[in-house]
Amino acid sequence: MSVCQTCGACCASFRVDFHPAELAGGAFAWGQGVPVEMTVPVTPAIVRLCGTDTASPRCVALAGTIGQEVACTIYEVRPSPCREFDTGHAACARARQRFGLPPLEVSSSENPVGK
Ligand code: SF4
Ligand code: SF4
Repeated sequence: MSVCQTCGACCASFRVDFHPAELAGGAFAWGQGVPVEMTVPVTPAIVRLCGTDTASPRCVALAGTIGQEVACTIYEVRPSPCREFDTGHAACARARQRFGLPPLEVSSSENPVGK
């Protein structure tokens, strides 16, 4: 199990915005693309994953318990911000701190693997 599968803090800490072209059927979708029903439109050029823009954010696609065992239910089609998030770097450490989890000691190229 990767460290991210025991964490999930970043999926419950930050807004996740991306271009509508990454939605299902879009020109820049990964695989089948992000399910439209899991997003809300923000501007003509931005959609947002549901649940990520509240006082206590939690992506609608995240299953499990933060800090124990989690899974991204749309892992194969997750959008670019999730694919590009730097495991082990500053934002990761901030997210983990919100949940009382220690920073990772070593940066990982896993990104964010297996959530
Ligand atoms: S990238 Fe960092 S904050 Fe996100 S799930 Fe992995 S270890 Fe947790
Ligand atoms: S789509 Fe998956 S990886 Fe991205 S924030 Fe939601 S649960 Fe996390």
